Amino acid sequence: MSPIAWFVGGGDDSARPSHPLGWPGRRRLRVPILMYHRLTRYPDSHPCSMVIGQFRSQLKILRALGYRTVSPREIARALRSGSPLPVRAVSITFDDGYVDTFTVALPILKEFGFTAACYVVADRVGQLSDWTEPASLMGWPEIREWLAAGMEVGSHSRTHRDLTVLPTVELQDEVAGSRKRLEDRLGSTVSTFAYPFTVHGPREREAVEVAGYEAACAGVKLHDSIFALARVEVAANSLGWFLAQLLPVYPELHHLYVLARRRAPWLLP
Ligand SMILES: [Zn+2]
Repeated sequence: MSPIAWFVGGGDDSARPSHPLGWPGRRRLRVPILMYHRLTRYPDSHPCSMVIGQFRSQLKILRALGYRTVSPREIARALRSGSPLPVRAVSITFDDGYVDTFTVALPILKEFGFTAACYVVADRVGQLSDWTEPASLMGWPEIREWLAAGMEVGSHSRTHRDLTVLPTVELQDEVAGSRKRLEDRLGSTVSTFAYPFTVHGPREREAVEVAGYEAACAGVKLHDSIFALARVEVAANSLGWFLAQLLPVYPELHHLYVLARRRAPWLLP
């Protein structure tokens, strides 16, 4: 089986989208896309934070196993063209654009020769996050340095609101307006989007497509759409669990686990 056939799980080489929003049926996205937020020296009260040593250990594992990093944009292009990606490909993403993504993650990524994409909140650059426990966000100079180091920048909307509850005009501004602002300030193309809180529906996916993005990252739930690439919130405390998250079937396993817990909550924690 060719790498692309393995990648989309279709078992043939004709894995091209029949509809601009994605693929029907069994053609699933298979490259693990890892989602990180904050990296801290000690365990932190901030939701979705991870201690630096754990992150470093995870990158050591990726290197020991021969993984190579690809960006969500590269995944999207491979899916559209049918071109192959490395068999052991993984995508590393950071949401929100915290200062520690620049001060902590960037040097470690460079040390291991890995790349990552950072999803930035366009109207909160250089400010404090106001959708969660406040934390400092990168400014424009840091984001430019991130790009200059060979990393990627994507849009995480203008203000990090739940897009699914916004009127259509505001949704479009969050999606298209953030892209324009980032491109104007950075002088480079912004080709992928990540949904705030990972929530989205058909209307949000269509807005992202209409705004000209090549792809979008979502949460762990599978959608068979290039505008909802499945991502896993990386396990903060278990390297064994992290290994499981690298499995191409992890999103399906997660789906089964959620389903089983809902139907038989007395059996599962
Ligand atoms: Zn976010």
